[in-house]
Amino acid sequence: MEQFDGLCVQDCERCPELVDSRSRIVNGVGPDDADLLFVGEGPGKNEDEQGEPFVGRSGSVLDDALSEAGVLREEVRITNCVRCRPPENRDPTKEELANCRGYLDGEIAAVEPDILVTLGKVPSEHLLERSVGITSEAGDVVETRFGDRSQRVLLSVHPAATLYDRSQRETFFETIAEAVDLAGLAGDGGNGQSRLGEF
Ligand code: URA
Repeated sequence: MEQFDGLCVQDCERCPELVDSRSRIVNGVGPDDADLLFVGEGPGKNEDEQGEPFVGRSGSVLDDALSEAGVLREEVRITNCVRCRPPENRDPTKEELANCRGYLDGEIAAVEPDILVTLGKVPSEHLLERSVGITSEAGDVVETRFGDRSQRVLLSVHPAATLYDRSQRETFFETIAEAVDLAGLAGDGGNGQSRLGEF
């Protein structure tokens, strides 16, 4: 039987296929009172192996964008819509997203971030409960309600998109800088130097 402490879940077996495909449950990381909460889709191979969200190539892109915006990864909270790796890295099903939704809602309610950033189409559509054209909507801020709280949500392309399509890199870096700015975090973490020219 699963146990959920408001941020992290243990022993969940709600999704039979994911129980088979995962090595472990990958809970969110970062301060439980972070101003910025990033929500991705679900763990990939590296995350499944290491037990932490966004530690593979997508994670490096996210770390770079945060660093360029003057923030350290350790200062923000990072989580996913589903906490177990789907087989073959397929998208999580509607049922799997629904099974994990209570944990995500609990985490959002516990952290109460100033800004929640959806990383890609899947978390954007899941949390806004509508279809999203992520390329055109990236950088938009929408106000939405989670339970009795109003939450500012900033839509972003997924960091992996920058690996397939270099034109997305600028969009992604700009959106992360916007997130840091909106949360009033811009400052001394990271390296503070613009690195866009390197790519
Ligand atoms: N992609 C995601 O959406 N989440 C991760 O944790 C890693 C890659």
